[in-house]
Amino acid sequence: AKETGNNRFLFYTREMNASVEDKLLLLEGLRNAVEQQQFSLLYQPKVDLRSGRIFGVEALIRWHHPEHGMISPLRFIGLAEESGLIVAIGDWVLRTACRQNMAWRAAGLAPISMSVNVSPRQFEELRLVERVALALEDSKLPADALELEVTESLIMRDLAQSVGKMGELKAMGISLSIDDFGTGYSSLSALKSFPISSLKIDKSFVSELADNLDDQAIAMAVISLGHKLNLRVIAEGVETEQQRDFLRSNDCDEMQGYLFSRPLPPDEVATLLQAQGWP
Ligand code: C2E
Ligand code: CA
Ligand code: CA
Ligand code: CA
Repeated sequence: AKETGNNRFLFYTREMNASVEDKLLLLEGLRNAVEQQQFSLLYQPKVDLRSGRIFGVEALIRWHHPEHGMISPLRFIGLAEESGLIVAIGDWVLRTACRQNMAWRAAGLAPISMSVNVSPRQFEELRLVERVALALEDSKLPADALELEVTESLIMRDLAQSVGKMGELKAMGISLSIDDFGTGYSSLSALKSFPISSLKIDKSFVSELADNLDDQAIAMAVISLGHKLNLRVIAEGVETEQQRDFLRSNDCDEMQGYLFSRPLPPDEVATLLQAQGWP
């Protein structure tokens, strides 16, 4: 039973219901992963749609399981949130991402921003602001080079407290972005209550942008809403030139996606930045 469980857990996503036994196996694996440092980060470039330049990257976690190889975050972030392990994992992500950004700067590359995903559960944790401040202090990364991508969710039970923390982070100079915009429970109320500087159009609205009129209408409306609220608008999951051209001609600010680049290891980001030179 152990063996099938072990193989099966690879196929669960946060939407699926794993059996209790499979969940426990995955959980045990995750605990080990935290202790044994089995994680790494890839970095996906974010590009300015007008200039075509890379202005930042998003850190995306990978789990290198000793037997199962690379495991996607879609398969373990949900359980990490449920179990609270996301706090330790998220702290590692923050510290590693900030240090990596400083390493690129130290190598003489043009400074870019670093975006880090922060789950709703991390916002509930008491010491979030302190943890972020420590990651900046240890790495010496300027606060204005850090952006946190947040998703609003029912899990964020104490909205007032989370919004309070966002205000503290903003006061430190850190930017906040709403991730997966349009897919959550109450995106519009999040726009009203979160002190954010940008919003990210979810890739589910981008994938059929070339020929789905509804998706085109949604993208155009989100861009115009964002701009009216003085926010920058970024589209994720841009895979084709048609999608990029549509977004550009509808005044979207930034894009991210396989068309420009997949998530990359640090040395490949350095190569791209090197080729691009300083502005
Ligand atoms: P997300 O934050 O919405 O990240 C975008 C996902 O789309 C990433 O998947 C990225 O690799 C993928 N992607 C980028 N460009 C394209 C494209 O052109 N086409 C397609 N089809 N996909 C594209 P990934 O890396 O598997 O991450 C999945 C999710 O896991 C993320 O979704 C995020 O919610 C979560 N995640 C990843 N890293 C972290 C982390 O460090 N902390 C937390 N809390 N969550 C994370
Ligand atoms: Ca994200
Ligand atoms: Ca997300
Ligand atoms: Ca997304």
